[in-house]
Amino acid sequence: MGDVKIDVLGVRFDAFTMESALDRAKAWLCDPKPRFAVTPNAEITFAAQKDASLRDTLNAADMVLADGVGVVKAAKRLGRPLPGRLPGVEFAQALLAVMEEKGKSLYLLGGKPGVARAAADRVKGTHPALRVSGVRDGYYEDESAVTRHIRECAPDVIFVCLGAPKQEMWMGRNLENVGPALMLGLGGTVDILAGKTKRAPAIFRRLGLEWLYRVAFHPSRWARAMKLPRFMLAVRRQRRRAKNGV
Ligand code: UDP
Repeated sequence: MGDVKIDVLGVRFDAFTMESALDRAKAWLCDPKPRFAVTPNAEITFAAQKDASLRDTLNAADMVLADGVGVVKAAKRLGRPLPGRLPGVEFAQALLAVMEEKGKSLYLLGGKPGVARAAADRVKGTHPALRVSGVRDGYYEDESAVTRHIRECAPDVIFVCLGAPKQEMWMGRNLENVGPALMLGLGGTVDILAGKTKRAPAIFRRLGLEWLYRVAFHPSRWARAMKLPRFMLAVRRQRRRAKNGV
């Protein structure tokens, strides 16, 4: 499974489970080429409906994982269910274990100054056999200096944590500038790896309420959460169009 694509508002998601996504990534690690994976949630999928360059970038990715519960619900409404939610942070953590086993190296890009370094130190603690080949915070001025540094470090995998949609556009633009690495766009994952922010407790995750937990602790996220109803309305329109064969 994996090559089935599910269209939600024009973004084509891969029907991957954690297992099939990891299998794909493992195969890629044995056959290095410039590749990138994205993990859009409802907010970014909704934004992509109106922004063709973002949509094209997401659809150009080698892997499109459904990060949020909103996308999973939307796919179900459209009659093309996804196997489930596949949070980028969980995929990243599972991939770290694979990388350690295979002796692969990681570059961490993003977060406020010091965060990527702290994340690297913690990753080295939990995965001693994994090499961290470089880090760079996400508030640089010269993008070409960053891509040059990445090329010099020659990582196998790059966690690109610049927030969405910045990180997706960054990966699309720099696919050929960073060497034969697998890039993953992972938002706040660098903060979680650094121990700076915590994921919602398991009960919230199980109930599909991780977003609510995040909003409670970061009230600035309310505006983002408020876009969800509009996302579901747009999905309803897509379903109606599909039914009418438009
Ligand atoms: N960030 C960055 N450079 C920027 C803007 C954001 O490195 O120019 C980082 C920010 O410090 C944070 C991450 O990107 O670590 C975005 O986190 P957020 O939780 O907003 O992302 P999400 O996972 O919701 O996309």
